[in-house]
Amino acid sequence: MDNNVEKDIESVLLTQEQIRQKVSEMVRRIDTDYRGKELVMIAVLKGSVLFLADLVRGFKRPLEFDFIGVSSYEGGKVSTGVVRLDKEIAIDIKGKNVLVVDDILDTGRTLGFVKHYLQKFEPKEIKICVLVNKEVNRAIDVDADYWGFKIPDVFIVGYGMDFENNYRHLPYIGILKR
Ligand code: 5GP
Ligand code: MG
Repeated sequence: MDNNVEKDIESVLLTQEQIRQKVSEMVRRIDTDYRGKELVMIAVLKGSVLFLADLVRGFKRPLEFDFIGVSSYEGGKVSTGVVRLDKEIAIDIKGKNVLVVDDILDTGRTLGFVKHYLQKFEPKEIKICVLVNKEVNRAIDVDADYWGFKIPDVFIVGYGMDFENNYRHLPYIGILKR
């Protein structure tokens, strides 16, 4: 078995340093906007995990986070269009300011589904924060309130994002060799 996944990467789209800088900018924006408010982050498993971990470490203010599990891709490169709930949230978000955190907003199906699901717990508001925004593919009317990078329609891996469950652990975002 080959033990270096980097040989599968065609090119690096976003370096560790670019991501680090962007995440701190996002922290500053969110920190300002939520001053004096309660903040509950709901992160979408598993793609958001690295982003969430870096994001939350930028804050000094109180905050809570929890995870929701959904799946739509079934491991490949093409979305099936069907979103399924795999893991419910376990904290009470009623009357709270919820910020949904995900790796990437593509067609909008995932975050549209998540927003709709969270609505039934009657939070005060729901906002969306993604690291990467692929606007060109949007099929559902969902917008990110906070986004780090806008990218064209390329399939990316790393920094939480997978191809067939691999590559999530790369500290940068890259494009796979075909
Ligand atoms: P949407 O439901 O908006 O089409 O897609 C959102 C989800 O699809 C993301 O949370 C992510 O898991 C996955 N996804 C969308 N685009 C990409 C991509 O370029 N690379 C990877 N690895 N996953 C993607
Ligand atoms: Mg995801």
